[in-house]
Amino acid sequence: MKIGILKETQKGEKRVSLSPNISKQLIAKGFEIIVEEGAGEASSYKNSDYKDAGVLVEKRGVVFKDAHVLLKVNPFDEEDLKLVDKGQVLISQLYHKSNPKLIEAIASKGATAFSLDAMPRISRAQDMDVLSSQNNLAGYKAVILGAYEMTKIFPLMMTAAGTITPSKVLIYGVGVAGLQAIATAKRLGAVVEATDIRTETKEQAESLGAKFISVDNEGEESEGGYAKEASDDYALKQKEAVNKSLFQADLVVTTANIPGRKAPILITEEQVLQMKNGAVIIDLAAAQGGNCEVSKLNKTVVKNGVKVIGTTIAPESVSTNASELFAKNIYNFIIHLTENGAFKWDLEEEITDETLIVKNGKIRKN
Ligand code: NAD
Repeated sequence: MKIGILKETQKGEKRVSLSPNISKQLIAKGFEIIVEEGAGEASSYKNSDYKDAGVLVEKRGVVFKDAHVLLKVNPFDEEDLKLVDKGQVLISQLYHKSNPKLIEAIASKGATAFSLDAMPRISRAQDMDVLSSQNNLAGYKAVILGAYEMTKIFPLMMTAAGTITPSKVLIYGVGVAGLQAIATAKRLGAVVEATDIRTETKEQAESLGAKFISVDNEGEESEGGYAKEASDDYALKQKEAVNKSLFQADLVVTTANIPGRKAPILITEEQVLQMKNGAVIIDLAAAQGGNCEVSKLNKTVVKNGVKVIGTTIAPESVSTNASELFAKNIYNFIIHLTENGAFKWDLEEEITDETLIVKNGKIRKN
């Protein structure tokens, strides 16, 4: 089976779906790999690194023509689909629920498509879960970005010229990104507080050294360990519990999402107006509408001296590591789906069933 790595075409994207190192591991398992020229450049992987790993380096058209399986980080687009043939297998993030036109276009080509973002969140799928591997890096980078934008340092510093008190960091949402944001802010010496609608996250936040701000969540629903939309009553109780910390925070990182829904507004404009002059909010939920009422996607909004940064670029900005982890997820996924170099098509199996969106031109999931 020949696996083709395509160069990402989405603006600002720097990642690549397979690194030379992971390509080598797949080759050792009997797969052939072909990569589009320059596909790894923005992740600091040269064409020669792929060649050294045993990968064929070819022009875009050749990769589309020769590969049985085509890999991308971002969804395939119209231009890609012009080159896709019947019988080819596409693997990438497809966000199929919000991309029905793309799914129809793939189906009309007679192709097959797996969506990595549809990975079930079960223990045995953890090492194939690109949302987790990328969100982890996003949590780290959000704090680094915040540190850069702040006019203060994180740690306590006692100097001959006086003592600098540590910065206060507040994290909303203690999922994958939130936990890494806590760990990073803590390592840099900040005083960290965190809150989440799921009470089971208290212990996790505390184990990383954060103070957990508990909000009474009685009556709030959750599903399979994931948050559902919070009630207005919860939002009010959350504000009461968190406001004191919010108004004293130097950096706020928001990571709260509800699978398949718009992100909840956790910080209103009125709250932003009461925050400290010079405070920074990094809103990692900006692509899902944002956790802060004033945030705008990929923009910095300054409100009453508070910088609100709505960002999605976090994993791309550490593309070498992001690509490495993405590639390892893909490796595990391909090994899971195949046997002796061929797809097993075990549709009764949960991971295959959930991620297989189109099979030979037939749409399985909407
Ligand atoms: P996410 O990105 O969907 O959301 C981030 C956090 O925001 C969640 O913890 C959620 O509870 C919180 N949140 C949502 N609404 C909120 C509100 N109104 N107020 C405060 N907080 C709110 O979550 P995630 O990072 O994908 O992870 C969720 C959980 O799933 C974690 O416990 C994680 O360890 C687990 N997980 C398991 C797997 C697996 O088993 N394969 C994979 C990934 C994540």
